[in-house]
Amino acid sequence: MTFTELLRVAPGSQPDLGAIDADSTPGFDGDKAAAQDRVHELADVLAEFQERLWAEGRQSLLIVLQALDAGGKDGLIRNVVTAFNPQGTRVTGFGVPSEEELRHDYLWRIHAATPGRGRIGVFNRSHYEDVLVVRVNELVPASVWKQRYEQINAFEAHLAANDTRILKFYLHISREEQRQRLQARIDDPAKHWKWSSGDLETRARWDDYRAAYTDALARCSTAAVPWFVIPADRKWYRDLAVAEILAEVAADINPAWPAPDEDVSGIVVPA
Ligand code: AMP
Ligand code: MG
Repeated sequence: MTFTELLRVAPGSQPDLGAIDADSTPGFDGDKAAAQDRVHELADVLAEFQERLWAEGRQSLLIVLQALDAGGKDGLIRNVVTAFNPQGTRVTGFGVPSEEELRHDYLWRIHAATPGRGRIGVFNRSHYEDVLVVRVNELVPASVWKQRYEQINAFEAHLAANDTRILKFYLHISREEQRQRLQARIDDPAKHWKWSSGDLETRARWDDYRAAYTDALARCSTAAVPWFVIPADRKWYRDLAVAEILAEVAADINPAWPAPDEDVSGIVVPA
């Protein structure tokens, strides 16, 4: 089985996050060093894909990253997304909406950040926050967020129909792994900057977030725009699994090198 098949949330199914071992390494029985070697190899594949996507200039790739605090989104970007040429790639982080953003519908800022043709976009958090933190903290009434699953599916289907391939990764960590990573943010002066007291409030709502994530994954994993659940307690497996899925999808997108504008056959560059 491919990583895409192994880790995808089948459309119409409800993932049982409590039963998915965050420490597991589906599809891989090597060790950390072997995984890192493989990620290194895949980086070349991803770099070549990015160049062809850019050269072809017809399609886009959007990578959506979601996780609880300390879930590893930043590490994944550092270790895997950097395979892509920064000239054609943009990472956008979505935090608490600004006053201006709140004056618009919740997809306004999202749509504005989607990648143009030939480009790769990476969302560090996304419109899914509008059915996660917004739901858990009751920032809007239930009657409002409940409509958003359908709206999100329609929005993503619209992007997909207009040549944007979308991949959504949920980085799945265990409660104990999150405790250790958050504690490290307190104990290690080099990690203090990552600490936010809000992290503890979010952690206290663990079960509510689990329920909200389960609904988002179940209701918004479609054939065209799938969710993947990535066991992420082992950082090296997280990086490997995402890199493998990106490489599989890259082969499927398979952008074509464009034909030259003029006939170049027989041209010899003079000495
Ligand atoms: P960080 O990713 O650590 O920089 O934190 C960003 C914060 O912004 C997180 O606490 C998110 O839950 C929050 N956030 C992102 N999107 C929204 C949203 N639509 N409404 C409210 N809070 C949000
Ligand atoms: Mg944070």
